[in-house]
Amino acid sequence: MLRIDSIDAWQAYRKNVDGDIGLVPTMGALHAGHLSLVNAAKSSNEHVVVSIFVNPTQFNQANDFEKYPNTLDEDLSQLAQSGVDAVFMPTFELMYPDNYIYQLTEKDLSTQFCGAHRPGHFDGVLTVVMKLLNLVQPNQAFFGEKDFQQLALIKGMVKAFFINTQIVSCPIVREADGLAMSSRNLRLSAIERKVAPQLYATLNSDSTLKEKTEHLNTIGFDVDYLAVMGDRLLVAATLGEIRLIDNVPYDMPGDKA
Ligand code: AMP
Repeated sequence: MLRIDSIDAWQAYRKNVDGDIGLVPTMGALHAGHLSLVNAAKSSNEHVVVSIFVNPTQFNQANDFEKYPNTLDEDLSQLAQSGVDAVFMPTFELMYPDNYIYQLTEKDLSTQFCGAHRPGHFDGVLTVVMKLLNLVQPNQAFFGEKDFQQLALIKGMVKAFFINTQIVSCPIVREADGLAMSSRNLRLSAIERKVAPQLYATLNSDSTLKEKTEHLNTIGFDVDYLAVMGDRLLVAATLGEIRLIDNVPYDMPGDKA
């Protein structure tokens, strides 16, 4: 597995790639959810490239960025074992030669749900994904349904800007107790980790949206929103210091709204 940490080295590598490339963008601290994207990429591409870049422009709280988990050595050995061809690990200076003077903004969906609570977050996400797509020029790029709003915005961006990459969505991978896998789960205390699966359980419970929100707030979550987007029920809630998100398929029953 090649480790590439400069744009020049990446472009030299890209020129010589023959066959389809599948890209899996990540921020590291990898878990089985990320590896499911790698496996999906492998099944339909000759070459799989994983990027590891903790993108500062999508963090709206300095503390969250500084404390973002870093498990680079384990990440690299997991990716090598998974048969990844190349890992792209650029620095901020290389990814943002303009120091983030140029930004990509979506003006509708990105202001709702997570966007309403994390100002600038989706500008950072869309900008970095556009940069990665332009640099890597993959045939396909793989994103998890865990970040459902992000996935919808990336699909919309690719369509709006005629980007020649197919966006492939992958199902949420969960722990045995139902908690959606997330790099931030590493930062939960033992007690918080016991409560955390209630987020998924509550989404699935037979109750109204208002009752679900109240229940989560009662058991220790601080709910940012619990709301329907299309055919999904989305939630974002903070437990201790950690903001968790999740979503489930949802067909709006008349008596539950
Ligand atoms: P991140 O490293 O958190 O930026 O995530 C990188 C990619 O992995 C994104 O497309 C996420 O949606 C996806 N991902 C993260 N957690 C999961 C999960 N539990 N199941 C499936 N995909 C995931």
